[in-house]
Amino acid sequence: MKINKNYQKLEDSYLFSTIAHKVAEFTQKNPDASVIRLGIGDVTLPLAPAVVKAMNKAVEEMGVKESFRGYGPEQGYGFLKEAIQKYYASRNTHLELDEIFISDGAKSDVGNILDLFSQDNTVLVPNPVYPVYVDTNVMAGRKIVFADANEANDFLPMPDENIKADIIYICSPNNPTGAVYTKEGLKKWVDYALKNNAIILYDAAYECFIKDKNLPRSIFEIEGAKKCAIEFCSFSKTAGFTGTRCGYTIVPQELVYDGVHINKMWLRRQTTKFNGVPYIVQRGAEAVFSEEGQKQIQENIAYYSENAKIIADTLKAKGIYFTGGTHSPYIWLKCPNNMSSWEFFDYLLEKAQVVGTPGAGFGENGEGFFRLTSFGDRAKTIEAMERFSKLF
Ligand code: PLP
Repeated sequence: MKINKNYQKLEDSYLFSTIAHKVAEFTQKNPDASVIRLGIGDVTLPLAPAVVKAMNKAVEEMGVKESFRGYGPEQGYGFLKEAIQKYYASRNTHLELDEIFISDGAKSDVGNILDLFSQDNTVLVPNPVYPVYVDTNVMAGRKIVFADANEANDFLPMPDENIKADIIYICSPNNPTGAVYTKEGLKKWVDYALKNNAIILYDAAYECFIKDKNLPRSIFEIEGAKKCAIEFCSFSKTAGFTGTRCGYTIVPQELVYDGVHINKMWLRRQTTKFNGVPYIVQRGAEAVFSEEGQKQIQENIAYYSENAKIIADTLKAKGIYFTGGTHSPYIWLKCPNNMSSWEFFDYLLEKAQVVGTPGAGFGENGEGFFRLTSFGDRAKTIEAMERFSKLF
């Protein structure tokens, strides 16, 4: 028996454990300090009442012989796929029902989709980035090249004809930088993929934070994308499903490589290796798209967005460079006074008792930057920014 040695090439992720360790040490030394955490990437507001109601109803159905459901379709129930189809149609994107696959979240599908592609492909990943894109490819032993995101390109790298890549990751709005591509920017990536026979894996987990109607919320708003892109989306940040677990992946019928339909491959993969999402959860997700559900989740998104604005306004007033915040729950700031990411972490914890995430944890280009999130409590966000303001 031989193990997959690629796992030994994975870099240990000490980011969140180091943060937890440093905060624990600080609070031990300063038991009266009120530490405010603006580093978390998890939501804090509860599920919308419409979602809870729908799930309760589904639980009741499961307890009655006539409405009990056993194994469901691995690719998702029709009622949820239809709700998603309508959601895209409201933004002028037509999807066939069999192009929509319900999943237990974007993270799983972003990793699992790699089953379909040869190990010989070269993967292009932005730097800094959501670490899952890198680690899942290291596990498979694929060659990874990086697209530099930095201050010069406002953390939105563009394709480089000199770099040959087969699989391209794009995340917009981005984690950790909060940067959002315009339609023109995405078109350049679509053109590159079509020209180079590459595929784009488009992570739209934060699409619901985009407010400007001119900014794309789906890659399928770009002409030609159905021939070269797969889109991953999630109810995690949209509707507080981080613990409930549901997402969806769009695999267009038009995606054909080497004469093979990618949609058929994914269906085969999912029906073989995935059990589907629980009926109860899918009913909850369906309720997100009801009139009542939409109203309720928009209130939560507005709450987080207002927090993001409070953070962004503080940085603007202080003349500190940052990206994100307007169309994203993340604010990515340049550490003041040329501090490194970890120096700034220690400084902010010591002087203001505010916790964020050092940018260096998201890749080399994250050094010198820092991520704050808007998923916290309003009063605490205001208090954190008041403390921050006194320092700079
Ligand atoms: N994609 C990005 C860019 C994320 O930041 C996250 C979570 O933080 C995910 C996907 C995970 O989404 P899910 O909870 O649906 O697995």
